[in-house]
Amino acid sequence: MKVYKMLKSFKRISYFAFVGWMLVSCSQGDEVVPKGDNLAMGNPSDANTGFSNYFIQKEQYAMSYNSYRGTPNWVSWHLSSAWMGSTPRQDDFRGDNTLPDNFYRVLPSDYTGSGFDRGHNTPSADRTLTVTDNSDTFLMSNMIPQAPTNNQQTWANLENYCRKLVSQGNELYIIMGQYGKGGTGSAGYKETLAGGKVTVPNRIWKVIMVLPEGTNDVGRVTNSTRVIAIDTPNSNSISTSWATYRTTVDAIESKTGYDVLSNVSAAVQEVIEARVDNGPTS
Ligand code: MN
Ligand code: MN
Repeated sequence: MKVYKMLKSFKRISYFAFVGWMLVSCSQGDEVVPKGDNLAMGNPSDANTGFSNYFIQKEQYAMSYNSYRGTPNWVSWHLSSAWMGSTPRQDDFRGDNTLPDNFYRVLPSDYTGSGFDRGHNTPSADRTLTVTDNSDTFLMSNMIPQAPTNNQQTWANLENYCRKLVSQGNELYIIMGQYGKGGTGSAGYKETLAGGKVTVPNRIWKVIMVLPEGTNDVGRVTNSTRVIAIDTPNSNSISTSWATYRTTVDAIESKTGYDVLSNVSAAVQEVIEARVDNGPTS
């Protein structure tokens, strides 16, 4: 009898403890605005386990990594107010130790003196909620050799404009990638760095989908959804105005062989991927 009572009260205590734990963990885990799925608009190259098209999913972004090039093929991320906080730039550039053992792990020093910046795909300033979020943008798997003028002016202007769109009540899906071989940095033309382990891209592109903040993001993309696509030369003599390089998603798809925005219905893709953006640029 005594044992039965003890068991009964133990059951009751553990029940309340469980309910209490559920309440605490739910209220801690649920953010007011969800961070969103970085790959919601699709996997442009059907990245999987291959050396040249290796799928990496981190909390902060998703990518196809190319071990032959020592760079991503593309990186996809969601940008909304939920990702933005006040974490300062960590500047902790480092090799990505999560890459498979048989991949070369590009080091920050592989770019030193090359005349090319360690150009972020997912920008540091797009991931400022936590130290971990910001720090993970400094993994070398998130970098390409980017001509300094392209990175610090043209690209920076577009990145700033994206964050302005967020401050105006939008959420964005951004896919950045590159293709081709050979670019012109501050020390002239180069095709590779680090004795061939890193390929210098020839062109750098970006596709930005702009949606007013809301839910069910893929499902509410329509023929009138704003999509900005640009394709820039990896050159130090580039224009500082990113708008100069506006193009269509279709043009990028035909250059790269990818299907960008593949989770959007085919009928809507047909319309929004054929249009050159002519919206505001700042
Ligand atoms: Mn940059
Ligand atoms: Mn597409």
